[in-house]
Amino acid sequence: MTQDQDPDTLVWRHDMQTWRAEMDRHAHQRRRQIIINALVLLLVGLLIWAVWPRTAGATGLHLDCPASVYFSPRGGAEAALVREIGAARQSVHVLAFSFTSQPIITALRQAAARGVAVAVVVNKSQDSARYAALRQGLPVRVDWAHAIAHNKVMILDEATVVTGSFNFTKSAEQRNAENLVIARCPNLAQLYLRDWEKHQAHSVAPGQRPAKKRVKASIGGGR
Ligand SMILES: [Zn+2]
Repeated sequence: MTQDQDPDTLVWRHDMQTWRAEMDRHAHQRRRQIIINALVLLLVGLLIWAVWPRTAGATGLHLDCPASVYFSPRGGAEAALVREIGAARQSVHVLAFSFTSQPIITALRQAAARGVAVAVVVNKSQDSARYAALRQGLPVRVDWAHAIAHNKVMILDEATVVTGSFNFTKSAEQRNAENLVIARCPNLAQLYLRDWEKHQAHSVAPGQRPAKKRVKASIGGGR
């Protein structure tokens, strides 16, 4: 009997073959599991990407509407804005990063007093007792949902859009280099209004800073 035919050796070989087959089977299962995991991860990633809050814009707009443009400093932007607010008949929706210009605040107060619906959403940096006193009488809410709520937008009578780099501050008119566009474009105004509504919905009353968790959860809310 050769060593190859030794029963112990045969048993040992059989065990080795069984062990190898078992290992191959395990390796195959592991590879399959890795592929399944990767596919699941990809699917979850795609799902998160699909539902992750993002700001919808609009492309392909054809704008054919009268507009005015102003450049600071001392280019008349503030005076033009005050005139626009003075001419508003139904509503003024405001998104402001900074909102301390006395002439603009006064114009908004006067608009509210003659029955125009005025509503303001400001950046969280504007949530202080001093600013609240400055804007007393105006309905202001504070947007905590972003690193910075950097918009400088007014929508007048849901038909005119005011936007640009121009903050609603004294400095923007007197010291800074800024630009302001006033466009009488109802279709554009509707887009800006939808965006305003989104921010308004997740904003809070002054002095009501939400807990961190709530701030995160509220991002993208009210869409
Ligand atoms: Zn917001």
